[in-house]
Amino acid sequence: MALNFAKTEFVRSAAGREQFLRDRLPQIAFAGRSNVGKSSVINKLTGKKKLAFVGSAPGKTTQINYFSIEGHAYLVDLPGYGYAKVSRSEKERWGKLMEDYFQDEAGLITLGVLIVDARHKPTADDVTMHNWFRESGCPEIVVANKLDKLKAREVEENLALIRETLDMDDEEALIPFSAEKGTGRDELLRSILTQCG
Ligand code: GDP
Repeated sequence: MALNFAKTEFVRSAAGREQFLRDRLPQIAFAGRSNVGKSSVINKLTGKKKLAFVGSAPGKTTQINYFSIEGHAYLVDLPGYGYAKVSRSEKERWGKLMEDYFQDEAGLITLGVLIVDARHKPTADDVTMHNWFRESGCPEIVVANKLDKLKAREVEENLALIRETLDMDDEEALIPFSAEKGTGRDELLRSILTQCG
């Protein structure tokens, strides 16, 4: 399948399962802790500066945003997690929305893209999200973002820690990435096309 990410357009937001898209087109779902740079990664992939809203405020985050890639597939922006100041009720809304999306009987996810911070060991929430992707049975790509904030000598060790914490085999994709510099963009695009094709 040829996917031209430069031709990505917003389709709709879903705050509940009745608004999910179930038209059988492939869904590439992006997940990550708030502030990890998920919006920046999406904007870098598509070459659009403001497609996904960078730095979006908590409170507006319990919705799934769908973008159409030229009518061939959807880029699905899942709401970020782990934001300290989020209220209990909002956390519960988030949990319900994720559960509904991951467990939908239509099997909505074609490919998961989990974005983690290249500087740190993945959080407990990252591990949970990773396991949800695994349990859903879809292939997954892990993106280690903010690579530009690491010293060259730290890279290998940090990537190994991410692999170890997420219990990833060598053949599972872990892509060092910098949304700031564009590092890893081509590799991520290639990997998405390979896994989605
Ligand atoms: P989101 O909450 O996961 O969508 O994160 P954002 O895309 O809003 O990014 C959070 C902050 O991290 C912003 O200030 C971005 O400019 C910054 N950021 C995102 N990606 C990178 C990166 O690769 N390198 C650096 N240095 N900063 C980044």
